[in-house]
Amino acid sequence: MADDRFKSYHDLAAVYVRGEHFNVSARSGSTKPSVLIMAPHGGKIEIRTAEIAHATALQDYSCYLFEAKLRANNREEMHIASEHYDVPEALDAVKTAEVVIALHGRRDGDDIKTTWMGGLNRNLSKHIGDALHKSGFPVLFDPPKFNGIHPDNICNRGVTKAGVQLEIPLSLREEFRSTPALEASFIHCLRAAIASYPQ
Ligand SMILES: [Zn+2]
Repeated sequence: MADDRFKSYHDLAAVYVRGEHFNVSARSGSTKPSVLIMAPHGGKIEIRTAEIAHATALQDYSCYLFEAKLRANNREEMHIASEHYDVPEALDAVKTAEVVIALHGRRDGDDIKTTWMGGLNRNLSKHIGDALHKSGFPVLFDPPKFNGIHPDNICNRGVTKAGVQLEIPLSLREEFRSTPALEASFIHCLRAAIASYPQ
C-alpha cells in the first residue's frame, strides 16, 4: 500500500516495541504442521483476521499471527505489504510449509460481501472459494487487485512457492464481530475445505 509507513519489519521494529505496540506469534501444528495459516496484518490493522486464522488452525495446523495494538493509525503504521513481508517468524514459518493460506482484510470499496480469492496455488484457492460459496459466502476469483500472485508475496514463499490469499471485506468482518455464529460458520467452512484438499 502506498500509505504504508514502513517497508520492512526492521524499520517498524526500530520504532515500535513488540509486546507493547504489537504481538507476533508462531507455532507449529500438531496434526499437520506443513499447513500454515497466517494473519500477517491482524489485531487492529485488519480486524478479525488473526482470530479467524487462529480458530482455523487450532492445534491442527501451524499458525502465524501479527497483531497490531496501537490506539490509532494501525494500518498506516503497522502494515507491511505482503510482497516485502519480512517478520522473522513469518519467514521461518513459510520455509517449511507445504501449504500456506494467508488471511487478509480488505476495505469494502463497492463490494461489501465478497471474499477475494488469490494466490498462486489456483487449485487450492478454487477449492476453498468453492467451499465458501456453497456455504453462502460469496467469493471472487482473479480479483482486480490484491490477487496475491506476486512471487514475493508471503503466501507464495512456502516450499511449493504457491499459496492462497483471502481478502475478506470489512463489512463481513464487522458482521462476524457482532454475529459469532456467522464467523464460526466461515471458519468451519475453511477448516473443512483444507481438510478435504488432497495433499
Ligand atoms: Zn493484509
